[in-house]
Amino acid sequence: QVETLKAKLLEQAQEISRLRSELGGTDVEKHRDLLAAENERLRQEMKACEGELRELQRQQQAPCRDCPHLQENAALQEQLSQLQREAEETRAKLVELDLEVQQKTNRLAEVELRLKDSLAERAEEEERLSRRLRDSQETIASLKSQPQQIKYIIKTVEVESAKAKQALCETQSRNQYLQEQVGMQKQVLKEMEQQLQRSQKTEAQLRAQIMMYEAELERAHGQMLEEMQAMEEEKNHAIEEAFSRAQVEMKAVHENLAGVRTNLLTLQPALRTLTHDYNSLKRQVRDFPMLLQETLRSARAEISQAIEEVHSTNRELLRKYRRELQLRKKCHNELVRLKGNIRVFGRVRPITKEDGEGPEAANAVTFDADDDAVLYLLHKGKQVSFELDKVFPPQASQEEVGATVHTAGVRREGSHLLLTLTCLSQVFQEVQALVTSCIDGYNVCIFAYGQTGAGKTYTMEGTAANPGINQRALQLLFSEVRGKAADWDYAITVSAAEIYNEALRDLLGKEPQEKLEIKLCPDGSGQLYVPGLTEFRVQSVEDINKVFEFGHVKRVTECTNLNEHSSRSHALLIVTVRGLDRSTGLRTTGKLNLVDLAGSERVGRSGAEGSRLREAQHINKSLSALGDVIYALRSRQGHVPFRNSKLTYLLQDSLSGDSKTLMMVQVSPAEKNTSETLCSLKFAERVRSVELGPVSRKAELGSWPSQEHLEGDSPGSAAPPGRGHASPSPGQLSSRSASIRRKLQTAG
Ligand code: ADP
Ligand code: MG
Repeated sequence: QVETLKAKLLEQAQEISRLRSELGGTDVEKHRDLLAAENERLRQEMKACEGELRELQRQQQAPCRDCPHLQENAALQEQLSQLQREAEETRAKLVELDLEVQQKTNRLAEVELRLKDSLAERAEEEERLSRRLRDSQETIASLKSQPQQIKYIIKTVEVESAKAKQALCETQSRNQYLQEQVGMQKQVLKEMEQQLQRSQKTEAQLRAQIMMYEAELERAHGQMLEEMQAMEEEKNHAIEEAFSRAQVEMKAVHENLAGVRTNLLTLQPALRTLTHDYNSLKRQVRDFPMLLQETLRSARAEISQAIEEVHSTNRELLRKYRRELQLRKKCHNELVRLKGNIRVFGRVRPITKEDGEGPEAANAVTFDADDDAVLYLLHKGKQVSFELDKVFPPQASQEEVGATVHTAGVRREGSHLLLTLTCLSQVFQEVQALVTSCIDGYNVCIFAYGQTGAGKTYTMEGTAANPGINQRALQLLFSEVRGKAADWDYAITVSAAEIYNEALRDLLGKEPQEKLEIKLCPDGSGQLYVPGLTEFRVQSVEDINKVFEFGHVKRVTECTNLNEHSSRSHALLIVTVRGLDRSTGLRTTGKLNLVDLAGSERVGRSGAEGSRLREAQHINKSLSALGDVIYALRSRQGHVPFRNSKLTYLLQDSLSGDSKTLMMVQVSPAEKNTSETLCSLKFAERVRSVELGPVSRKAELGSWPSQEHLEGDSPGSAAPPGRGHASPSPGQLSSRSASIRRKLQTAG
């Protein structure tokens, strides 16, 4: 039966396993697996949670480090551990004490034991001793019978008894001591017990304290947990807040984004217009060069037109300027002409030592205080008056000749001096006007006429310290030229010549003896020139002075007696001024002839012969010819006898036309010279006798056909008939009006 049952069981078991496999452990096993997976997942989640929690706790602990409770807790724990340590120590001490007490108790037991032993010993000893005592006493008693021997035995017993006694004593004291010690030990024990009790008490106290501390610690822990909780809550709250804030911000950003998107939408058209603009600009830039070129072309055209206009205006201005220049020249010329192209001045030198003394050296010349053109000469008891363009009295010094107008004003001291100075300033102006004319391109002649010793050379050249008209005129010339240097180029040349016995000689040439000829220019202009006459180009007055010195040296080496010779020859200084106006290209040529004439005295009268006579004749001839020419010119005659002498022929172009002439007639005031003075003054008056007023000129125009007649009476004659050269009295001044009348009559 057992066998079959076993087989059945096995069979059933197999059936079960088969069924189970059939069922596939499927649903249940799947469910189990699922559950297991779930379980695993949960476990892991839990682990994660735990880790998180730990992390959080760690995070929490970090901020709690500064928590006062924690500090307190730490302090309390410290205290607690200290107390525990103390308790431990006390416990150890207690154990020690217990051990000691045990030891001491043991020792005490030992000591008691020993004491008991010793007591037993002693009792034994006592027993023994008492027994011996009894023995001894028996012995004694026995011995007493034997007297001597007994005595001795007693003695011994006694001695033995003392020893025992001493041992007893010792033992007793020792006993005492041991008892004392036991008492002491007992006391110590008692103390120790007390101490133990105290220790136990403190221990109990400490335990209570520990309990208290532990409770406090628990509380602190709870508090801490609470705080942690609160913090966590706070944290969560903060997170939530931050989240909400972030959401709000996000929303705002979204809104912004939307705005930007709309902006973008609006920007697109703007961009489109910009692109359009850019394209149009590009087109413009492309077109710009063309435009620029066109503009440039037009601008250029405009500019050239403007330049053309300016040019034409300029031309017009230049034309006007030239016209004005000519007008000015004409006006100046007219002014000079109105004053008279030929002016005659008289200058009276002062009485000098050479005039000697006595009646011969007396002054024969007087002046009119109100009229600076009138001079009176006392000749042979009669006073003869002469009228010239100007008369300079002896007071007119060289320096004053150069004086300017304003110094004249300062120097006035009396009416006479005032008059003098006014005259002088007028001379200055006269010279200035002549120099200006020369620069303008007119020819100018300045003559010094008079008898030898009357002051011709003095007036013309002067001395080194007191330069004369020559110097001053040239100075003026150079200063004027310098003033015009901005617009004009000037070339100034000088020549010096001498006419002796009708022979022309170059004072600056290499061959001074060579006689020069005056020739007509071959160009047919009618101009005269002297071939071979040396010309020096000069830049300043100093240059001219050097030239003068050179000329003088020539004259000195040539002649034994300079004064003799010079008084019998005409000395000429010819300054040529050639100008070029840089702006207009206008060219001008002016000549300034400064002539120191030969002495005018009538040598023939004193019965001179030979060469002296020939000289005198030549001088007379040339001076008369000069007078005739000037007269003819001044009276505007058609024919002027220039060819009558070398001098007039040479100066022809400087005397005719628009030329200006200044004749300075020098006279000596000395009584002995009155006849010569009279001749000179007559000559002067004859030269200027023709009135230059408008009436006179008209009359001249009218008298055109009568030139023949006028010319007929001029040449050779020192005093033409009908000329009032010897007005016998101041009352008969009007030789001028007479001549006008005559002229008008001639004109018919
Ligand atoms: P000329 O040249 O006419 O022969 P000078 O010029 O030689 O005469 O003059 C003769 C003298 O008279 C010289 O000694 C000169 O210094 C003097 N003299 C001439 N004019 C004046 C004057 N205005 N003032 C002072 N001295 C004069
Ligand atoms: Mg002289």
